[in-house]
Amino acid sequence: MVKSSVLGYPRIGADREWKKALEAFWSGKLEESAFHSQLQEIRLNHLRKQQEKGIDFISVNDFSYYDHVLDTATMFGIVPQRFAYEGGVVPLSLYYGIARGTKDATASEMTKWFNTNYHYIVPELDGAVPTVTENRPLIAYREAKEKLGIEGKPVILGPLTFLKLSKGYDVSETDAWLERLLPLYVQVLQELALEGVEWVQIDEPILVTKLREADLERVKTIYSTFATSVPKLNIMLQTYFESVENYSDIVALPVKGIGLDFVHGLSGNIASIKELGFPAEKVLGAGVIDGRGIWKASLREKLSLLQVLTRLVTADQLIVQSSCSLLHVPVTVQHEAKLLPELKGALAFADEKLDELVLLAKGISFGEAEIADELEQCESAIQALKQSGERNRNDIQQAVAAIRVQEPKRNRPFVERHLAQQNKWQLPLFPTTTIGSFPQSAEVRKARQQWRKGEWNNEQYADYIREQIDIWIKLQEEIGLDVLVHGEFERTDMVEFFGEKLAGFAFTQYGWVQSYGSRCVKPPIIFGDVAFEEAMTVEETKYAQSKTTRPVKGMLTGPITIMNWSFVRDDISRELIAYQLAYALRQEVEALEQAGIGMIQVDEPAVREGLPLKEEDQAEYLSWAVKAFRMTTCTVQDTTQIHTHMCYCEFHDMIDSIEAMDADVISIETSRSHGELIHSFEVNTYELGIGLGVYDIHSPRVPRVEEMTSMIDRALHVLDPKLFWINPDCGLKTRGYEETVDSLRNMVEATEIARAKH
Ligand code: GLN
Ligand code: ZN
Repeated sequence: MVKSSVLGYPRIGADREWKKALEAFWSGKLEESAFHSQLQEIRLNHLRKQQEKGIDFISVNDFSYYDHVLDTATMFGIVPQRFAYEGGVVPLSLYYGIARGTKDATASEMTKWFNTNYHYIVPELDGAVPTVTENRPLIAYREAKEKLGIEGKPVILGPLTFLKLSKGYDVSETDAWLERLLPLYVQVLQELALEGVEWVQIDEPILVTKLREADLERVKTIYSTFATSVPKLNIMLQTYFESVENYSDIVALPVKGIGLDFVHGLSGNIASIKELGFPAEKVLGAGVIDGRGIWKASLREKLSLLQVLTRLVTADQLIVQSSCSLLHVPVTVQHEAKLLPELKGALAFADEKLDELVLLAKGISFGEAEIADELEQCESAIQALKQSGERNRNDIQQAVAAIRVQEPKRNRPFVERHLAQQNKWQLPLFPTTTIGSFPQSAEVRKARQQWRKGEWNNEQYADYIREQIDIWIKLQEEIGLDVLVHGEFERTDMVEFFGEKLAGFAFTQYGWVQSYGSRCVKPPIIFGDVAFEEAMTVEETKYAQSKTTRPVKGMLTGPITIMNWSFVRDDISRELIAYQLAYALRQEVEALEQAGIGMIQVDEPAVREGLPLKEEDQAEYLSWAVKAFRMTTCTVQDTTQIHTHMCYCEFHDMIDSIEAMDADVISIETSRSHGELIHSFEVNTYELGIGLGVYDIHSPRVPRVEEMTSMIDRALHVLDPKLFWINPDCGLKTRGYEETVDSLRNMVEATEIARAKH
């Protein structure tokens, strides 16, 4: 019988119980012991669910109190020096201190987990003297066994990936660090072996990226060390998110099983197996169920994929798996009550994926006939969505097919547009502006709630929004900003707002996924052809413009950001989805222009997030991402000024693409890059309008004039003053009223100082 395996299960709970418990504990509303027992209940619940569904290899130690990378670091006593840690088991207060900061020490950096929207805490190695403070996988294993009789499969983040994701050491010290860490891993594994653990899953997603020779040697050292020190323990060396690079070296490692992603790395992994074979003595963890997507799998297609695999390896070498941890998908479709039936029928979140895995294991073991009914149901659900009106908008498909073969291009090159725009707008040197949103006070959020609940009618809500716009237009004039914004008070979220107004989107009630710590996001689902239905932002922007003689910048979210922050359909390419979005947003851009709005910002903070893991795929992605942006913005007049905005941008390796977007002005987050961004302009040129954020908006601190002056001076060393704008790093939505006004006043003062110098 072919077995099924899950690489990890979501932590947050169907109703975000986990999040609620964490936040209650942090705010002091929940005692530590009660907190532990609540989390245990959640954890056991998740294990029980997998047990009841009939999953054979259930992961333990996939659960976390915050983040699994932080868990690995603290298990090894790796705590940043500034926390004055004195050894021993890391207490909860310290654990959360590292993640969230304390009054004396800043939090550790967090960053994106490969190409997902999950963020992990970056381990800081400097100064740490690693030891095993507690064997977390063992504790988790015992718990599952004692409480539920589950023979769990502990999951551990592998040493190479752990080292590669850590900072605070020089590359030349990598081997020294490996020497320190390896014995600790061995200790953990030996204790597991002694306990009678059969399988452990060691996650090494880093193996899907290109490794240098030295790293390849390290992998060999690591796994041969494990093979000699824990010979009886079965290790499943797990990769995901792409196909493995260095396939022949990886499958030759002395481990019992190799886990490969046959969803996101399908073609590469299959090609490698076909070409180079798969060792007969090893088990193949076949990740065929998408751990990141939300769609029901075609069981028929998956079965035939598994059949292909059984011709390459034998059936008893095979384990049917999720492609990665289910951490990246919501918990269950079950409680969704508001989705179109043909959409709901075609969805599979974590729990539904458990069923799929079990069915596939059964189907491949006993033949298709064993699961005939389920196959039938599955295919008809997929067909129903395929045939739905939303997926068959001929008008859209034809329009997009027609524009995608054109080269989207403004009428004139930037240099000429720049002159025309200067003529029209007569902006001063170093124009000042903001990124779009102003503080969303409790009052603003409450107003929206009242309207959503029906306590306020549309007119009352619109009046309220207009009042906010009035207040902020006046304030911006008084502060002395040159290019104003309406403030985005009507928007909760920059993607949701547009998704609710465009055709082709759906919103779940409970489809949350963990983004970082207790923070969860509920991405919209792009399930149909995306279409513009009616103007989305014209009303508020036009109103704001009617209140001032200064230009008001229209504000849209760009196609790539909307796509990267949504769950998207998998029956057409991401490229095509991006063009559909671009075509829809272009109509909004045109509507704004028609309404007399002469500056339009199309935000693209998430371009980088979509960057493929494999270097060789990156250029293609960037090229259609740029094309989608241009498609959105290319039809306006020369005098209409297109702005864009990006955050978290490591600029240096993307500068050509950003320039190719051909936005008249870009504003970009700068202060958190500690000068690196400015430095990148010493080596690269950028010849369009640009505003480097002059202050960090993530903190309530009001920046002093001198700090901003020095930022401006540094930037002007490398950038053309005639093209330079002055703005904060990002939107001000999360800031308070007073600090915002004070900061902007200081920003304008710093601008005046700069103008006087030039
Ligand atoms: N216009 C958006 C805002 O100001 C941009 C947000 C972002 O870059 N994430 O809130
Ligand atoms: Zn931003």
